[in-house]
Amino acid sequence: MKMLEEKLKIDKISKGTVIDHIDAGYALTILNLTGLDESKNLITIGVNVSSKKFQTKDIIKIENVFLNKTQMQQISILSPNATISLIENYKVIEKKKVKLPKIIKKLILCVNQTCISNSEKEPISTEFMVLEEKPLKIQCIYCERIYKLEEIVFTSKEKKEKKVKQTLHL
Ligand SMILES: [Zn+2]
Repeated sequence: MKMLEEKLKIDKISKGTVIDHIDAGYALTILNLTGLDESKNLITIGVNVSSKKFQTKDIIKIENVFLNKTQMQQISILSPNATISLIENYKVIEKKKVKLPKIIKKLILCVNQTCISNSEKEPISTEFMVLEEKPLKIQCIYCERIYKLEEIVFTSKEKKEKKVKQTLHL
């Protein structure tokens, strides 16, 4: 059993990205939110992997893909302790911790219908101030409404839904 666990942890990819120290249970949400679930590349997921640092964690390994800034930010919102390793020729060429920004722009919707960010006339991009990192608490800078992690609605979800609706129209 020990050997198997060790193997899972070190099973290497030749080129791509390893997202490690994801909060246990968030791997699938991260794949969905970042759109990585639509990738045709090989993805290996470890859920509830035992970890010295945080008891259990999730891991995502994805071949031939490097994350962009938006994806890194999305991960930082869901899992502020996550680390990102870039792999080339089976070696880690860069390892960084995700960083939750002090202000989160555009990635999250404010569900308050009277919020100016939902104004039909002049829509403004949302901005949320991070009040607490863990557990996450953010505040809309326009209407001052406060959200916890489980209350957050991400903008990319809406885009996906719109895409589906458009497809249905055709
Ligand atoms: Zn608002």
